[in-house]
Amino acid sequence: MCGIIGIIGSQDTSDEIYWGMKTLQHRGQDAAGMITYSDKFHAKRGLGLVEEVFKEEKLSNLKGTIGVGHTRYPTVGAGTFVQPFISTYPYGIAMAHNGNVVNFDQLQSNLKERMRYLTSDCDLELILNLFSDELGGHRFSKEAVFDSIQGVFEQVDGAYSVVAVIADKGLLAFKDPRGIKPLIFGEKYVNGKKGFAFASEDIALNSLGYGVSRDLKPGEAIFVDTELNAHFRVIQSHAPAPCMFEWVYFARAESRINGRSVYDVRQNLGRGLAKKLKGIRADLVSPVPDTSITASIILAEELGLPYREALIKDRYVGRSFIMGSPEKRENAVLRKLNPIYSEIRGKDLILVDDSIVRGTTSRKIVKMLKDKGARKVHLVSTCPPLKYPCYYGIDFPLQSELISTNRGNEQIRQEIGADSVTYQDISSLEEAIGLGVCKACLTGEYPTPIQESKTFAERRIKDRK
Ligand code: SF4
Repeated sequence: MCGIIGIIGSQDTSDEIYWGMKTLQHRGQDAAGMITYSDKFHAKRGLGLVEEVFKEEKLSNLKGTIGVGHTRYPTVGAGTFVQPFISTYPYGIAMAHNGNVVNFDQLQSNLKERMRYLTSDCDLELILNLFSDELGGHRFSKEAVFDSIQGVFEQVDGAYSVVAVIADKGLLAFKDPRGIKPLIFGEKYVNGKKGFAFASEDIALNSLGYGVSRDLKPGEAIFVDTELNAHFRVIQSHAPAPCMFEWVYFARAESRINGRSVYDVRQNLGRGLAKKLKGIRADLVSPVPDTSITASIILAEELGLPYREALIKDRYVGRSFIMGSPEKRENAVLRKLNPIYSEIRGKDLILVDDSIVRGTTSRKIVKMLKDKGARKVHLVSTCPPLKYPCYYGIDFPLQSELISTNRGNEQIRQEIGADSVTYQDISSLEEAIGLGVCKACLTGEYPTPIQESKTFAERRIKDRK
C-alpha cells in the first residue's frame, strides 16, 4: 500500500512531511524517505520506521518550501531501493507513489528500446521514467505536464497515486484513471500565503492544520506552480474503483476516503455481520485488535452480547525486522497478541477479524485461544472471502495462497480449527461503503487489464526469497 505526502508553500516543509509520514506510518513500516528542494534536492531515505530513519537527521538539513515523503509497505520490486526517486532528465523530478504496475516487464522493455534503463525493479522508477520520457518531448508548461501524464495513463496498467516535485516548476499530484489508491489534497494560509498539501489519508492533512479540500478524482492531476497557483485537470477517467480494503483494513479509522468515514463504514460492517449471526449462542464478542474493534463493538451491541478484549495487542513490541514476506508479517502479528485469561477460560467467543487471507494467522490465534481454555471460538470476518489475487498493492499476488479459493465454509472451518466461520456478504460490504469500489479480490473482476499478472506474481515471489 504505502503512504505518500507532498507539500508546497510551507516554511516548515521537512517538519510537516516528517509528521505527516508519522501519521501515515500504518500504511508502510519497512522504509521511509523524504526529498525536499531548494536550490538543489535534499534527500534522506532508509530502511525502518520514520523515527528510525530520521533519528540522526536534522530535519533542517532538508531545506526548501517543497518536498515529498513516502512510507513503504513492501510488495513487488521493493528491494533496498527506497522512495522517493529522482530523475535528472528533462528537469529534476523527485517522485513517490503508492501502488503497483501490472505490466511492468512490458513497459521496461519498451523503455530499453528507447535507451532508457532502470536501476531497480521498483514500479515507481518505471512511472518516473515514463513521465520524464513524455515530458522531455515538450517545452515546459502545465499543459505539457498534463499531456505527459496522459502518456503515462495510456501505457500503465495498474493502480497508482503519485506526488512529485519538479525542480523550479512546482508540485504535482495525480491518481490513476480508476482512482484505486487514495490521494487527498488540502490547503492552508500561513501569513496570508496559501500552501498546498497532498496525502494518502486526510488524517495526515488534518494533523498538520491543512483544511481538507477533497479527494482527487480518478484520472485527475493537480499541478501547483511555484507561484502557488493550482491547476486542475481530469485527464482520463473510468468508473471509479477505489480499493475496498482501505475501509476494511488499511486506512485509519479517523480517516475519510472519497467522502466516506472509515469509522462509519466499519460500524456498518459490524451491522452487516449481526444480520448473519442473529441467534448465535456465545458469551462475548472480542476483536482481533486493532482494525476490527469498531465492527466488533457494533456487532456486540446488535447481538446483545458483552464486548470484551480476549486479546490485547502490545503496542510497544517493535518491528523486529523488515517484514518482506507474509509469513514474517503473520509471525510479527502473533508475537504482539497476548491473551486475557478471564475472558477466555470456559467461554464461547465470537472472535472478529478484519479479513482471513491465508488462514495461517487465524489458525494460530484460534489454537492459542483454545489452548488457554476457550470452549468455542466462532471466527467472524468483516471482509467477504478473498478468492482472487490482488495486483494493485496489497500483498497477496498468488491465488493458491488464499484459503477461501476453492474451499467451502466447512472446509475452511476445519482447516482453521474454529467452531464456525462467518464471512461478510459482498452485498453487505457494498452497502456498508456506499460507493462503487474495486472488489476484484472477491469477484475476480479486475478494473484494469491484467494480461501480465503472471509475470507480476513471479516478480513478487522472487522478491520474497
Ligand atoms: S483487488 Fe482487492 S485488495 Fe486489491 S485493490 Fe482491488 S479491492 Fe483492493
